Amino acid sequence: MSPTPLTDFSKLCVHTITTKPWAIEESMDRYAEAGIGGITVWRQWLDGRDIEKVGDQLRERNLEIVSLCRGGFFPAKSPIALEEAIEDNRLAIREAAALGAPMIVLVCGAVPGQPLEESRKQIAEGIAAVLPLAEEHGIKLAIEPLHPVYADDRSAINTMASANAVCDQLAHPLVGIAADVYHIWWDPDLEAQIKLTGEKDRLFAFHICDWMTPTADLLNDRGLMGEGCIDIPGIRAMVEAAGFNGFNEVEAFSDRWWAKNQSEFLEAIKTAYLKHS
Ligand code: ZN
Repeated sequence: MSPTPLTDFSKLCVHTITTKPWAIEESMDRYAEAGIGGITVWRQWLDGRDIEKVGDQLRERNLEIVSLCRGGFFPAKSPIALEEAIEDNRLAIREAAALGAPMIVLVCGAVPGQPLEESRKQIAEGIAAVLPLAEEHGIKLAIEPLHPVYADDRSAINTMASANAVCDQLAHPLVGIAADVYHIWWDPDLEAQIKLTGEKDRLFAFHICDWMTPTADLLNDRGLMGEGCIDIPGIRAMVEAAGFNGFNEVEAFSDRWWAKNQSEFLEAIKTAYLKHS
């Protein structure tokens, strides 16, 4: 299977955290100048800003707002903390609506020492609790399975199958999955799960970067496409075969790249996108 050749940047989306040293104002100008088609905004980039105005500024630059990152972190050990998490997700939905983002990516959460089954139950209950507000604003909620190395404190949802199980349970057209190659590339059931996700109309987003060997830092040592061992074109072929035709979102947390000139980094992203995605 081979993916559609990438010849331009109309389907390239960059996450604001990828160019972390840039504030939202600089990100939007640089991305637009680079001819990039889409942007996923991390919530911290909206701190202290008029969110509706930022949305207008992005649209004026012809940047499609792909999603708001991120909601989630539902599991908790006390009823108060569970309610706070739900309130924060409601806030994220209102922020997405103000920005004009059609979707929120959910990093679902986990609590060290709490059984994963309990966390998964709290995740499903948390999403169910915010769904009425998501419906009111028409905001999609994309569950992002995280690599099992993060099962202790970042997510109890670690495979596409596990994310699909939550989607099945909630059975709602606004609940789907964000497939991130960094988290799922190792899964022997990947192709079948991506196909199933597409058949159920819930493959909402596709995130790309690469897995470094060795990985110096489990959070902030992601590679640019082609720097690591993930077969990104192969996985893109799978998502396209499953009917996905949305953006290819570059989401790379990298202390190594953040230390460099971000304009040069953005050029490197574009080159890697055409050659290795
Ligand atoms: Zn991601």
